[in-house]
Amino acid sequence: MAKRQSFADKSSKKVYTMTCPVCSEEKQFVKFVKAVKTDAGAWKFRSANVGVCKCNQEEIYA
Ligand SMILES: [Zn+2]
Repeated sequence: MAKRQSFADKSSKKVYTMTCPVCSEEKQFVKFVKAVKTDAGAWKFRSANVGVCKCNQEEIYA
């Protein structure tokens, strides 16, 4: 039972991080969805995984 629980803990932890070379804080990757207007006038949603740290968190969460 204890083993099963630790396996569940591991598999639910899908968040990966990296360290920013600029502010040396850990970047957290979040799925960032942006609405983009195409030339035809239609809205499209583009999503990307963006690393967020002190350098750009204000832009992302604004
Ligand atoms: Zn940074």
